[in-house]
Amino acid sequence: MKVLFTTDLHGAKRKYEGLLDVAQQAQADVVINGGDMLPSVGNLLSQGDYITNYLDAHLREFDEAGIYYLCYLGNDDLRIFDEIFEKTCNKYPLVHNLAQCKIEIGDIEFIGMNWVVDYPFRLKDRCRMDTIDYIFQEQYGTALVSTTDGLKEIKDWFSYARTLPTIEEELNTLVTPNNIKQTVYVIHMPPYKLGLDKCGHGAEVGSKAIYDFLRSRQPRLSLHGHIHESPEYSGKWHAKIGNTVCIQPGQLTSFTYVTIDLKTMQFDRHVTGV
Ligand SMILES: [Zn+2]
Repeated sequence: MKVLFTTDLHGAKRKYEGLLDVAQQAQADVVINGGDMLPSVGNLLSQGDYITNYLDAHLREFDEAGIYYLCYLGNDDLRIFDEIFEKTCNKYPLVHNLAQCKIEIGDIEFIGMNWVVDYPFRLKDRCRMDTIDYIFQEQYGTALVSTTDGLKEIKDWFSYARTLPTIEEELNTLVTPNNIKQTVYVIHMPPYKLGLDKCGHGAEVGSKAIYDFLRSRQPRLSLHGHIHESPEYSGKWHAKIGNTVCIQPGQLTSFTYVTIDLKTMQFDRHVTGV
């Protein structure tokens, strides 16, 4: 089975437009879009229109081409649009919202999770403490969460966040696969320690909980994103935890994706001129 993985497209139509072509050239059976799919500049409250007016037709193209498309929204995609996103995915038999779900294709089990470890930025829709003893970073401003009435301020974010499940707890509530060796996790947040989580200012912000989860469970593959610039700053876009291959392709100005043959476990990163 051949997989094409891209992530953090943030609504860039020139990148979306190239995706079907490269998927067909690579003879991909499955395309995985790992979150932060919608425009994140301008009015975030119009992301729902992007789903309806653009993404819907994009997803339909893959369904018509006979290519599976597994995807979920990310931390910059407002939670108030989860429902319309889910409904849009459900229109097409080959398109699946992978957030906190398992999809089986052939003998491979794909499991997704789109919660992220808290960060200094204000939008907190999908933020969690990593573990129960997590130490928060200094914040850039008052926390915001999306509601149907618009973005709402959370005055005491740290107290509020302590009432939410941690990343560690969220991982433990995911469905258990039947065969871990044939399982691919798609987790927007990267693990720590591997150079897949390096920010432009030098900090390494990856998740301890995700690292520990992968180390103990040992799936075949894990796919990550979130820190767009990490490969440029760490020089790494893949690593191993025991027998598990971890991939984080990054996403800067050039359209970037990875092709993976799950049978041979050969994989290549493509940074296109687009
Ligand atoms: Zn992200």
